Amino acid sequence: MTESLDGQPIERDFSARSMEEQEDFLSQTWCNHCLEMDLGMVNPKEYETKERIWIEGECVKCGKVTVTEIVEEEE
Ligand SMILES: [Zn+2]
Repeated sequence: MTESLDGQPIERDFSARSMEEQEDFLSQTWCNHCLEMDLGMVNPKEYETKERIWIEGECVKCGKVTVTEIVEEEE
């Protein structure tokens, strides 16, 4: 894992998550184009910056980019 120097997102390995987590993240979505919840996404990619972690994928319904922000339980 390389450290980003300029705050650019780093790609993480989404497939390293457990199957349960992957299924949850892929089904619990919000699409800004369809304006509907839980349509699902395909082709997920996970990214992180210092401040946040999120998953980008394609909406199952419209095929546009949909983003799911991940809240990690860390102090
Ligand atoms: Zn959509």
